[in-house]
Amino acid sequence: ISCVSWLYQKIEDSFFLVIGTKTCGYFLQNAMGVMIFSEPRYAMAELEEGDISAKLNDYEELKRLCLQIKKDRNPSVIFWIGTCTTEIIKMDLEGIAPKLEAEIKITIVVARANGLDYAFTQGEDTVLAAMAQRCPEYKEKAISLSGDPKEETKHPPLILFGSLPDPVANQLIFELKKQGIKVSGWLPSKRYTELPAISEGNYVCGVNPFLSRTATTLMRRRRTKLIGAPFPIGPDGTRAWIEKICSVFGIQPVGLEEREKQIWESLEGYLKLIANKSVFFMGDNLLEISLARFLIRCGMVVHEIGIPYMDKRYQGGELLLLEKTCQEMGVSIPSIVEKPDNYKQLERIRTLQPDLVITGMAHANPLEARGINTK
Ligand code: SF4
Repeated sequence: ISCVSWLYQKIEDSFFLVIGTKTCGYFLQNAMGVMIFSEPRYAMAELEEGDISAKLNDYEELKRLCLQIKKDRNPSVIFWIGTCTTEIIKMDLEGIAPKLEAEIKITIVVARANGLDYAFTQGEDTVLAAMAQRCPEYKEKAISLSGDPKEETKHPPLILFGSLPDPVANQLIFELKKQGIKVSGWLPSKRYTELPAISEGNYVCGVNPFLSRTATTLMRRRRTKLIGAPFPIGPDGTRAWIEKICSVFGIQPVGLEEREKQIWESLEGYLKLIANKSVFFMGDNLLEISLARFLIRCGMVVHEIGIPYMDKRYQGGELLLLEKTCQEMGVSIPSIVEKPDNYKQLERIRTLQPDLVITGMAHANPLEARGINTK
């Protein structure tokens, strides 16, 4: 459910209602840090005894809360985030939402981002997968798009998915534009009302490694074609990502090699610092493969890549690039540990004594106290 904290900022006209217990509330309250004091557009619908034993009516309770949200904040969409509790008591959020949506005239999107099934960033995946089904068909938007003849492109529409801060997103759009590729839409958009139009046969490409459900939804439900590229993390990844998109559209990329070289040169000071140092990823956010690949290219030695969940198909391009990078740098491919056991990892860390451990806050200070650098 932590995805709420970055998604409500990304989608400006949204409101996130997390339907769970005080456990979830405490977690968000702490994880969001100072943001909690900035009147965030999220709230908990805290379940009570009466909800759990079905003495209260779910529909009426949710209606009351959503009406209040509508009155106070007037969002374009309310996301209902299901949690462990709603799963276990089998609260039928997907069933209630359409009825309530029709009754109180506000869009409700349901995403199950609970701790039973998913880890951390995968929460965004469930939200985007739910949003992908709400994107309008291309035809409806054709009128506004055809207005500008200069916008004519030589390739089929390309829609990117994955939430990024606006400056980063704009940078990627700009990089693609240099190759003559136009980004027709981005999921999620800045506002829910501006969701990109998607229709059969469009191309989609992910920018984050944790979006496998969204990718599957876009392919199966929306009949789009997925461009399976490595992810634009690090200059090497960004170049490979652009190259892959170009190759799918039959475009010869220009100036990418130069561009990558320039960036590596600007990083020289940092590269000297980390060359030949070793790193251990404990694994908690699914960015690990891409980061490890980037750090190997930087000259680091990777002992272990822990990762909560590994979708070999969606991350296929990234895995190939990791392999290639290892070959080129003359190192063996590090072991990838899915669903790692932190306890055993600590034993391995003790033996290996890596120069850097990339880990969560639970282990960071204890490791530092034992003389191991952490990030
Ligand atoms: S793991 Fe489950 S109970 Fe805990 S915060 Fe996440 S959704 Fe709530």
